[in-house]
Amino acid sequence: MRAMAVFRSLEALEADYLPDSLPGRESELREIAFALKPALAGGSPQPLFVYGRTGVGKTACVRFACRQLEESSKAKPALINCWQSYTRQSVLSELARSVGEALPRRGLAADEVFQRIAQTCRRDGIVPVVVLDEVDQLLAKGEGGVLYDLTRSRELHGFPVGVVCITNDAAAFQKLDERVRAAFVSGRVEFKPYSPSQLREIVAERVAKAFAPKAVSDEVVALCTARGAGEGGDARVAIQLLLGAGRRAEARNANRVEAKDVPAGVANPSVEKKFSRLNGTEEKLLALVGNGKKSGELYALAEEKGFGLSERSVRNYLDGLVEKGFLKARGLEEKGRTRFFTRL
Ligand code: ADP
Ligand code: MG
Repeated sequence: MRAMAVFRSLEALEADYLPDSLPGRESELREIAFALKPALAGGSPQPLFVYGRTGVGKTACVRFACRQLEESSKAKPALINCWQSYTRQSVLSELARSVGEALPRRGLAADEVFQRIAQTCRRDGIVPVVVLDEVDQLLAKGEGGVLYDLTRSRELHGFPVGVVCITNDAAAFQKLDERVRAAFVSGRVEFKPYSPSQLREIVAERVAKAFAPKAVSDEVVALCTARGAGEGGDARVAIQLLLGAGRRAEARNANRVEAKDVPAGVANPSVEKKFSRLNGTEEKLLALVGNGKKSGELYALAEEKGFGLSERSVRNYLDGLVEKGFLKARGLEEKGRTRFFTRL
Protein backbone atom coordinates (compact mmCIF):
# COMPACT_ATOMS: atom_id res chain seq x y z
CA MET A 1 0.00 0.00 0.00
CA ARG A 2 1.24 3.48 -0.77
CA ALA A 3 2.08 5.50 2.31
CA MET A 4 0.33 8.76 3.01
CA ALA A 5 2.01 11.72 1.38
CA VAL A 6 4.50 13.57 3.57
CA PHE A 7 3.96 16.83 1.71
CA ARG A 8 0.87 18.94 1.99
CA SER A 9 2.15 21.71 -0.29
CA LEU A 10 5.46 21.40 -2.10
CA GLU A 11 4.97 24.91 -3.37
CA ALA A 12 5.59 26.24 0.13
CA LEU A 13 9.16 24.96 -0.08
CA GLU A 14 10.02 26.46 -3.43
CA ALA A 15 12.69 29.14 -3.61
CA ASP A 16 10.35 31.92 -4.68
CA TYR A 17 7.53 31.08 -2.28
CA LEU A 18 6.60 34.11 -0.21
CA PRO A 19 5.10 33.15 3.16
CA ASP A 20 2.36 35.31 4.66
CA SER A 21 4.43 36.06 7.72
CA LEU A 22 8.16 36.54 8.23
CA PRO A 23 9.05 35.68 11.81
CA GLY A 24 12.06 37.53 13.15
CA ARG A 25 11.84 40.34 10.61
CA GLU A 26 9.01 42.37 12.09
CA SER A 27 11.09 45.48 12.71
CA GLU A 28 12.88 45.41 9.34
CA LEU A 29 9.56 44.94 7.60
CA ARG A 30 8.05 47.85 9.49
CA GLU A 31 11.00 50.05 8.59
CA ILE A 32 10.76 49.17 4.90
CA ALA A 33 7.00 49.57 4.76
CA PHE A 34 7.26 52.95 6.49
CA ALA A 35 9.88 54.18 4.03
CA LEU A 36 7.79 53.16 1.04
CA LYS A 37 4.46 54.29 2.39
CA PRO A 38 4.42 57.76 0.78
CA ALA A 39 4.09 56.02 -2.60
CA LEU A 40 0.57 54.94 -1.65
CA ALA A 41 -0.53 58.56 -1.79
CA GLY A 42 1.57 59.55 -4.79
CA GLY A 43 4.46 60.92 -2.73
CA SER A 44 8.22 60.31 -2.57
CA PRO A 45 9.40 57.16 -0.80
CA GLN A 46 12.65 57.20 1.15
CA PRO A 47 15.37 55.44 -0.89
CA LEU A 48 16.50 52.26 0.85
CA PHE A 49 19.73 50.35 0.85
CA VAL A 50 19.12 46.86 2.24
CA TYR A 51 22.16 44.72 2.99
CA GLY A 52 23.10 41.53 4.78
CA ARG A 53 24.34 38.02 4.11
CA THR A 54 22.67 35.47 1.85
CA GLY A 55 19.50 33.82 3.11
CA VAL A 56 18.65 36.36 5.81
CA GLY A 57 15.32 37.34 4.28
CA LYS A 58 16.23 40.53 2.42
CA THR A 59 14.43 39.67 -0.80
CA ALA A 60 11.49 38.11 1.04
CA CYS A 61 10.96 41.20 3.22
CA VAL A 62 11.13 43.63 0.34
CA ARG A 63 8.77 41.50 -1.74
CA PHE A 64 6.43 41.41 1.21
CA ALA A 65 6.47 45.20 1.51
CA CYS A 66 5.89 45.53 -2.24
CA ARG A 67 2.92 43.23 -2.06
CA GLN A 68 1.37 45.58 0.46
CA LEU A 69 1.90 48.44 -1.98
CA GLU A 70 -0.03 46.67 -4.67
CA GLU A 71 -3.24 47.49 -2.88
CA SER A 72 -2.86 51.07 -4.03
CA SER A 73 -3.49 52.15 -7.60
CA LYS A 74 -0.68 54.72 -7.38
CA ALA A 75 2.30 52.64 -6.29
CA LYS A 76 3.76 50.27 -8.89
CA PRO A 77 6.50 47.99 -7.59
CA ALA A 78 9.04 46.71 -10.12
CA LEU A 79 11.22 43.88 -8.86
CA ILE A 80 14.37 43.72 -10.91
CA ASN A 81 17.11 41.19 -10.43
CA CYS A 82 20.42 42.66 -11.48
CA TRP A 83 21.90 39.28 -12.37
CA GLN A 84 19.42 39.42 -15.21
CA SER A 85 19.16 43.14 -15.82
CA TYR A 86 22.58 44.65 -15.34
CA THR A 87 22.51 47.64 -17.65
CA ARG A 88 20.84 51.03 -17.39
CA GLN A 89 18.96 50.20 -20.55
CA SER A 90 17.53 46.92 -19.28
CA VAL A 91 16.64 48.36 -15.88
CA LEU A 92 14.73 51.17 -17.54
CA SER A 93 12.99 48.75 -19.91
CA GLU A 94 11.84 46.69 -16.93
CA LEU A 95 10.62 49.83 -15.25
CA ALA A 96 8.74 50.88 -18.36
CA ARG A 97 7.06 47.51 -18.50
CA SER A 98 5.99 47.73 -14.88
CA VAL A 99 4.23 51.04 -15.40
CA GLY A 100 2.44 49.60 -18.42
CA GLU A 101 4.46 51.41 -21.05
CA ALA A 102 4.78 49.31 -24.21
CA LEU A 103 8.11 49.95 -25.88
CA PRO A 104 8.50 49.65 -29.65
CA ARG A 105 10.38 46.58 -30.78
CA ARG A 106 12.94 48.56 -32.69
CA GLY A 107 14.24 49.73 -29.32
CA LEU A 108 14.67 53.18 -27.89
CA ALA A 109 17.64 54.99 -26.43
CA ALA A 110 17.69 54.84 -22.63
CA ASP A 111 16.93 58.56 -22.28
CA GLU A 112 13.92 58.17 -24.53
CA VAL A 113 12.70 55.25 -22.44
CA PHE A 114 13.00 57.40 -19.34
CA GLN A 115 11.02 60.21 -21.00
CA ARG A 116 8.21 57.78 -21.79
CA ILE A 117 8.14 56.49 -18.22
CA ALA A 118 8.05 60.07 -16.96
CA GLN A 119 5.15 60.97 -19.22
CA THR A 120 3.07 58.02 -18.11
CA CYS A 121 3.83 58.48 -14.42
CA ARG A 122 3.12 62.21 -14.45
CA ARG A 123 -0.08 61.72 -16.40
CA ASP A 124 -1.45 58.93 -14.20
CA GLY A 125 0.11 59.97 -10.89
CA ILE A 126 1.97 56.66 -10.71
CA VAL A 127 4.89 56.21 -8.32
CA PRO A 128 7.10 53.34 -9.44
CA VAL A 129 8.98 51.56 -6.67
CA VAL A 130 12.05 50.04 -8.25
CA VAL A 131 13.68 47.19 -6.37
CA LEU A 132 17.18 46.46 -7.59
CA ASP A 133 17.97 43.09 -6.09
CA GLU A 134 21.64 42.02 -6.14
CA VAL A 135 22.47 45.60 -7.08
CA ASP A 136 26.21 44.87 -6.79
CA GLN A 137 25.91 43.24 -10.23
CA LEU A 138 24.82 46.55 -11.71
CA LEU A 139 27.69 48.36 -10.01
CA ALA A 140 30.19 45.74 -11.18
CA LYS A 141 29.08 46.44 -14.74
CA GLY A 142 29.69 50.16 -14.29
CA GLU A 143 25.99 50.78 -14.82
CA GLY A 144 25.25 52.31 -11.44
CA GLY A 145 24.43 55.59 -13.18
CA VAL A 146 20.83 54.50 -13.47
CA LEU A 147 20.62 54.98 -9.70
CA TYR A 148 21.22 58.65 -10.34
CA ASP A 149 18.30 58.79 -12.81
CA LEU A 150 16.05 57.10 -10.30
CA THR A 151 16.97 58.87 -7.07
CA ARG A 152 16.90 62.29 -8.77
CA SER A 153 13.76 61.69 -10.74
CA ARG A 154 11.52 64.04 -8.82
CA GLU A 155 13.99 66.87 -9.15
CA LEU A 156 14.95 66.26 -12.76
CA HIS A 157 11.77 64.83 -14.25
CA GLY A 158 8.96 65.93 -11.99
CA PHE A 159 7.83 62.54 -10.68
CA PRO A 160 9.00 60.57 -7.66
CA VAL A 161 10.46 57.07 -7.91
CA GLY A 162 10.95 54.73 -4.97
CA VAL A 163 14.31 52.97 -5.03
CA VAL A 164 15.27 49.93 -2.99
CA CYS A 165 18.73 48.47 -3.48
CA ILE A 166 19.42 45.01 -2.07
CA THR A 167 22.83 43.42 -1.78
CA ASN A 168 24.85 40.88 0.15
CA ASP A 169 28.05 42.73 -0.67
CA ALA A 170 28.88 44.68 2.47
CA ALA A 171 31.21 46.93 0.51
CA ALA A 172 28.65 47.87 -2.15
CA PHE A 173 27.52 51.02 -0.41
CA GLN A 174 31.00 52.48 -0.69
CA LYS A 175 30.99 51.68 -4.40
CA LEU A 176 28.06 53.99 -5.05
CA ASP A 177 28.67 57.29 -6.71
CA GLU A 178 28.95 59.94 -4.01
CA ARG A 179 25.89 61.86 -5.17
CA VAL A 180 23.84 58.68 -5.20
CA ARG A 181 25.14 57.51 -1.84
CA ALA A 182 23.83 60.69 -0.23
CA ALA A 183 20.28 59.69 -1.14
CA PHE A 184 20.61 56.42 0.78
CA VAL A 185 22.42 57.52 3.95
CA SER A 186 19.35 57.63 6.12
CA GLY A 187 17.76 54.60 4.47
CA ARG A 188 20.23 51.87 5.27
CA VAL A 189 18.62 48.71 6.58
CA GLU A 190 20.92 46.00 7.85
CA PHE A 191 19.72 42.40 8.02
CA LYS A 192 21.64 40.52 10.69
CA PRO A 193 21.96 36.74 10.42
CA TYR A 194 19.12 34.83 12.05
CA SER A 195 19.70 33.50 15.54
CA PRO A 196 19.13 29.76 16.01
CA SER A 197 15.82 30.42 17.74
CA GLN A 198 14.59 32.64 14.91
CA LEU A 199 15.62 29.99 12.42
CA ARG A 200 13.75 27.37 14.41
CA GLU A 201 10.60 29.42 14.20
CA ILE A 202 11.00 29.93 10.46
CA VAL A 203 11.56 26.21 9.92
CA ALA A 204 8.65 25.25 12.17
CA GLU A 205 6.28 27.57 10.31
CA ARG A 206 7.39 26.16 6.99
CA VAL A 207 6.90 22.62 8.26
CA ALA A 208 3.34 23.50 9.24
CA LYS A 209 2.60 24.90 5.78
CA ALA A 210 4.37 22.37 3.62
CA PHE A 211 4.00 19.01 5.36
CA ALA A 212 1.18 16.78 6.46
CA PRO A 213 0.40 17.00 10.18
CA LYS A 214 2.97 15.17 12.30
CA ALA A 215 4.96 14.14 9.23
CA VAL A 216 8.13 15.88 10.43
CA SER A 217 9.84 15.01 13.69
CA ASP A 218 11.22 17.64 16.05
CA GLU A 219 14.61 16.16 15.47
CA VAL A 220 14.40 17.04 11.77
CA VAL A 221 13.45 20.60 12.61
CA ALA A 222 16.39 20.81 14.99
CA LEU A 223 18.81 19.43 12.41
CA CYS A 224 17.74 21.77 9.62
CA THR A 225 17.87 24.69 12.03
CA ALA A 226 21.35 23.79 13.22
CA ARG A 227 22.68 23.51 9.67
CA GLY A 228 21.17 26.86 8.69
CA ALA A 229 22.70 28.39 11.79
CA GLY A 230 26.04 26.84 10.89
CA GLU A 231 25.84 28.49 7.47
CA GLY A 232 25.71 31.91 9.10
CA GLY A 233 22.01 32.13 9.95
CA ASP A 234 20.86 31.23 6.45
CA ALA A 235 17.13 30.44 6.23
CA ARG A 236 17.46 29.31 2.64
CA VAL A 237 19.79 26.50 3.61
CA ALA A 238 17.45 25.37 6.39
CA ILE A 239 14.43 25.33 4.06
CA GLN A 240 16.28 23.53 1.28
CA LEU A 241 17.34 20.82 3.69
CA LEU A 242 13.74 20.44 4.75
CA LEU A 243 12.70 20.00 1.15
CA GLY A 244 15.50 17.50 0.53
CA ALA A 245 14.53 15.52 3.62
CA GLY A 246 10.88 15.43 2.56
CA ARG A 247 11.85 14.20 -0.90
CA ARG A 248 13.96 11.40 0.53
CA ALA A 249 11.22 10.31 2.91
CA GLU A 250 8.81 10.27 0.01
CA ALA A 251 11.26 8.27 -2.11
CA ARG A 252 11.44 5.56 0.51
CA ASN A 253 7.68 5.61 0.69
CA ALA A 254 7.62 6.64 4.32
CA ASN A 255 4.92 8.78 5.86
CA ARG A 256 7.29 10.41 8.29
CA VAL A 257 10.43 12.44 7.70
CA GLU A 258 13.26 11.23 9.92
CA ALA A 259 16.62 12.65 10.88
CA LYS A 260 18.34 10.23 8.50
CA ASP A 261 16.47 11.86 5.60
CA VAL A 262 18.11 15.24 6.15
CA PRO A 263 20.78 15.59 3.43
CA ALA A 264 24.35 16.25 4.48
CA GLY A 265 24.35 19.63 2.81
CA VAL A 266 23.00 21.79 0.02
CA ALA A 267 24.65 22.76 -3.22
CA ASN A 268 26.94 25.75 -2.92
CA PRO A 269 24.38 28.51 -2.45
CA SER A 270 26.13 31.15 -4.46
CA VAL A 271 26.75 28.91 -7.45
CA GLU A 272 23.23 27.63 -7.45
CA LYS A 273 21.84 31.10 -7.09
CA LYS A 274 23.87 32.27 -10.03
CA PHE A 275 22.60 29.45 -12.20
CA SER A 276 18.98 30.16 -11.48
CA ARG A 277 19.59 33.61 -12.87
CA LEU A 278 20.89 32.84 -16.30
CA ASN A 279 18.51 33.21 -19.18
CA GLY A 280 17.98 30.42 -21.69
CA THR A 281 20.43 31.78 -24.23
CA GLU A 282 23.14 32.18 -21.64
CA GLU A 283 22.62 28.64 -20.44
CA LYS A 284 22.85 27.27 -23.97
CA LEU A 285 26.04 29.20 -24.68
CA LEU A 286 27.56 28.07 -21.42
CA ALA A 287 26.82 24.47 -22.36
CA LEU A 288 28.54 25.00 -25.73
CA VAL A 289 31.75 26.08 -24.03
CA GLY A 290 32.12 22.60 -22.51
CA ASN A 291 35.72 22.06 -21.48
CA GLY A 292 36.88 25.19 -23.24
CA LYS A 293 36.58 26.66 -26.75
CA LYS A 294 37.84 29.46 -28.89
CA SER A 295 35.54 32.35 -29.68
CA GLY A 296 35.46 31.44 -33.38
CA GLU A 297 34.38 27.89 -32.60
CA LEU A 298 31.60 29.23 -30.41
CA TYR A 299 30.29 31.57 -33.10
CA ALA A 300 30.25 28.69 -35.56
CA LEU A 301 28.56 26.31 -33.14
CA ALA A 302 25.91 28.85 -32.18
CA GLU A 303 25.15 29.31 -35.86
CA GLU A 304 25.14 25.58 -36.60
CA LYS A 305 22.72 24.98 -33.73
CA GLY A 306 20.43 27.71 -34.98
CA PHE A 307 20.58 29.97 -31.93
CA GLY A 308 19.63 32.86 -34.19
CA LEU A 309 22.34 35.12 -32.82
CA SER A 310 24.72 37.34 -34.73
CA GLU A 311 28.42 36.96 -34.05
CA ARG A 312 28.24 40.24 -32.24
CA SER A 313 25.50 39.12 -29.90
CA VAL A 314 27.31 35.88 -29.15
CA ARG A 315 30.31 38.00 -28.24
CA ASN A 316 28.16 40.18 -25.98
CA TYR A 317 26.65 37.17 -24.28
CA LEU A 318 30.10 35.68 -23.73
CA ASP A 319 31.33 38.96 -22.26
CA GLY A 320 28.31 38.96 -19.98
CA LEU A 321 29.06 35.43 -18.81
CA VAL A 322 32.65 36.44 -18.06
CA GLU A 323 31.37 39.46 -16.17
CA LYS A 324 28.96 37.35 -14.14
CA GLY A 325 31.72 34.95 -13.18
CA PHE A 326 30.70 31.90 -15.22
CA LEU A 327 33.46 31.98 -17.80
CA LYS A 328 37.06 32.95 -17.96
CA ALA A 329 38.46 34.45 -21.15
CA ARG A 330 42.05 34.35 -22.23
CA GLY A 331 43.34 36.26 -25.24
CA LEU A 332 45.17 34.17 -27.83
CA GLU A 333 48.28 35.42 -29.57
CA GLU A 334 47.55 33.92 -32.95
CA LYS A 335 44.76 36.27 -33.96
CA GLY A 336 43.94 39.68 -32.60
CA ARG A 337 40.40 39.07 -31.40
CA THR A 338 40.41 35.36 -30.75
CA ARG A 339 39.85 34.40 -27.18
CA PHE A 340 39.74 31.09 -25.41
CA PHE A 341 36.83 30.59 -23.03
CA THR A 342 36.77 28.18 -20.14
CA ARG A 343 34.12 27.60 -17.53
CA LEU A 344 34.74 28.66 -13.96
P1 ADP B 1 18.20 36.90 0.96
O1 ADP B 1 17.50 37.72 -0.07
O2 ADP B 1 18.61 37.69 2.16
O3 ADP B 1 19.35 36.10 0.40
P2 ADP B 1 15.72 35.45 1.01
O4 ADP B 1 14.77 36.54 1.27
O5 ADP B 1 15.81 34.97 -0.39
O6 ADP B 1 17.17 35.83 1.53
O7 ADP B 1 15.36 34.26 1.98
C1 ADP B 1 15.86 32.94 1.75
C2 ADP B 1 14.76 31.93 1.93
O8 ADP B 1 14.34 31.89 3.30
C3 ADP B 1 13.50 32.25 1.14
O9 ADP B 1 12.93 31.03 0.71
C4 ADP B 1 12.60 32.94 2.15
O10 ADP B 1 11.24 32.71 1.86
C5 ADP B 1 12.99 32.27 3.45
N1 ADP B 1 12.92 33.19 4.56
C6 ADP B 1 13.84 34.12 4.88
N2 ADP B 1 13.47 34.80 5.97
C7 ADP B 1 12.29 34.27 6.37
C8 ADP B 1 11.40 34.54 7.46
N3 ADP B 1 11.66 35.48 8.37
N4 ADP B 1 10.28 33.78 7.56
C9 ADP B 1 10.01 32.82 6.67
N5 ADP B 1 10.80 32.53 5.63
C10 ADP B 1 11.93 33.23 5.47
MG1 MG C 1 17.95 37.89 -2.09
